[in-house]
Amino acid sequence: MDCLFCKIVEGTIPSAKVYEDEHVLAFRDIQPQAPVHTLIIPKKHIPTMNDAAPEDMELLGRILLAAQKVARDAGLADDGYRLINNCGRDAGQVVYHLHFHVLGGEKLGPLNVKEQPDR
Ligand code: AMP
Ligand code: ZN
Repeated sequence: MDCLFCKIVEGTIPSAKVYEDEHVLAFRDIQPQAPVHTLIIPKKHIPTMNDAAPEDMELLGRILLAAQKVARDAGLADDGYRLINNCGRDAGQVVYHLHFHVLGGEKLGPLNVKEQPDR
C-alpha cells in the first residue's frame, strides 16, 4: 500500500522507534514541534479517526495506553503533555494513516492554533 506510515510499520522506511508491540508503533516525529514529539500509530491501516469502527475499540484503547507509556517514559507525566489527532483537511492532516501526536517537554501554546501565513 502506498502509505508512508504503513511503510514505517513494514520497515521499508526507517524511523526512530520509541515503543512497539503487536498492534501499535510509536516513533519520533521527523519535524518535532516540541522537545518531545512522538507519533503513536496503529499497525493496521486506518486512514483517519472517521474510519475507526466499533471493531477498532480495543485498538484505540491500546493507542491511548501506548501514548500514556511514551509520555511517562519521556518524563512528561508530572509536568504534562498534549495528545493530538488531526482529522482531515481543516485540521491539517497530512499523513492519512491514523496517528496521535504526543507533545511535551515545554509549556505548550494555545490549542486552537490558527494557520500561520508565514510558515
Ligand atoms: P499530521 O499533520 O497530523 O498528518 O502529521 C503528520 C506528521 O508526520 C507531521 O508532524 C510530520 O512531521 C510527520 N512525519 C512525516 N513524515 C515522517 C517520517 N518519515 N517520520 C516521522 N514523522 C514523519
Ligand atoms: Zn497506512
